[in-house]
Amino acid sequence: MDTQAFKRSLHRSDRYNRRGFGSPTKRAQALEQAYQSSLIASIRDNGYLLEHGRLKVKLAEAFGFCWGVERAVAMAYETRRHYPNESIWITNEIIHNPSVNDHLRNMNVSFIPTQNGEKDFSSVAEGDVVILPAFGATVQEMQLLHERGCHIIDTTCPWVSKVWHTVEKHKKHTFTSIIHGKVKHEETLATSSFAGTYLVVLDLDEAQYVSEYILGKGDRKEFLNRFSKASSPGFDPDRDLERIGVANQTTMLKSETEEIGRLFELTMLKKFGPSDLSEHFLAFNTICDATEERQDAMFSLVDEPLDMLVVIGGFNSSNTTHLQEIAISRGIRSFHIDTPERIGEDDNTITHKPLGEPLLEEENFLPEGEISVGITSGASTPDRVVEHVIQKIIKLSD
Ligand code: SF4
Repeated sequence: MDTQAFKRSLHRSDRYNRRGFGSPTKRAQALEQAYQSSLIASIRDNGYLLEHGRLKVKLAEAFGFCWGVERAVAMAYETRRHYPNESIWITNEIIHNPSVNDHLRNMNVSFIPTQNGEKDFSSVAEGDVVILPAFGATVQEMQLLHERGCHIIDTTCPWVSKVWHTVEKHKKHTFTSIIHGKVKHEETLATSSFAGTYLVVLDLDEAQYVSEYILGKGDRKEFLNRFSKASSPGFDPDRDLERIGVANQTTMLKSETEEIGRLFELTMLKKFGPSDLSEHFLAFNTICDATEERQDAMFSLVDEPLDMLVVIGGFNSSNTTHLQEIAISRGIRSFHIDTPERIGEDDNTITHKPLGEPLLEEENFLPEGEISVGITSGASTPDRVVEHVIQKIIKLSD
């Protein structure tokens, strides 16, 4: 499909909106009332430090709601006000945050149901309003909704759209897009729908496997098996890895995306030599600023003398999980929680999600004596949620 032509025609439609319905000032005010926190503001003013008796709380210097998420949430609320009586749907969680998604459900905004892992659009009718979330939607979903006569409110973050432009450029110049991302993540699903030929690699190990194949050291059958669900239909590793470009899911670990880019550049350099490199390798920087800032702030935070770290964000939030990985890589006792309710303030317990494992309840969350707790949160976590977590920790320390 010519995805660029489709987007151009969609953008011209009077049933398509990607600007929302309110002024940016009003939008900022509404969000401030709903999600911002005076406690967090005062901690920020105090050099990101709160001292309370035996407790020290150190906040990361960049955390929480990013611009793209703020905008998407505000546009969703404006949509309800603009269409007070229409059926409103969202193709996915607007962002990976349980409290924001519950708030939308309370406003009678419905999520598209899924059947056996597939989205079921059968209840969506002509004239319904459908919101596309901050990490976008697949081009096939957009096409279906457009053809059904729905009003589309597109909150896709411009950083995500930038990645789509990148893979479309790869497609135009017959390069295969190597996408650093999680194959089932909605953003990566959307990005691959805009790509031509593509391969999704999860991490540096997987990229190394592909690099070795390019250099003639792999097994074709094994390769096809490994990437059967992570490549475009009919992908042929012997034909489709001659010209490659790298793109990424915007919330992956920045340092890993950069390493993967360097690895493939070097691979193509080895195979084709410096004079032909540009014929075989295309690099674009598609790392989002907010993700980068939050990861850099986390690297600074883990350099502080901390006894433990609490990372707050949805369990399926990719950028939050990467913050947790940074804590683990430094061997700091850390807890990933999604809501303040995970902390039991009466019995000093915490129910958290260790990386890649099911939820775990631990006793003696806050130990006796002087304690220093680092706190950060993912790009889809409102400050109010962080505030409640801090209040609970303060209470436990009293
Ligand atoms: S994390 Fe980055 S790409 Fe994702 S919504 Fe926020 S600003 Fe946009």
